[in-house]
Amino acid sequence: MTAWQAVLATVRGRERDEWVSALRSTAGTWARAYAGEPLTKPERALSLAGTDLEQLTETRCAWCRRPLEQPVRGRRRYCSDRCRKANYLLTDH
Ligand SMILES: [Zn+2]
Repeated sequence: MTAWQAVLATVRGRERDEWVSALRSTAGTWARAYAGEPLTKPERALSLAGTDLEQLTETRCAWCRRPLEQPVRGRRRYCSDRCRKANYLLTDH
């Protein structure tokens, strides 16, 4: 049984239809994340809203999620100045 089937087994009727619809709408996002592809613009906006909840992986750019080459010392959060500035411009500080 997949995780989705397990969730759907706990709900019936109209609520189940709502869950099917909600889960289906996220399928593309999960598939792209699994393949390691960069976030789409709407996903990027959502990822900003979720940064307090979800720890960003240290090996991906905090803005576009492309894999980062880590320097020997310190940690880079962004793959480029462009991403660092984009994040700076769209967050409160
Ligand atoms: Zn980036």
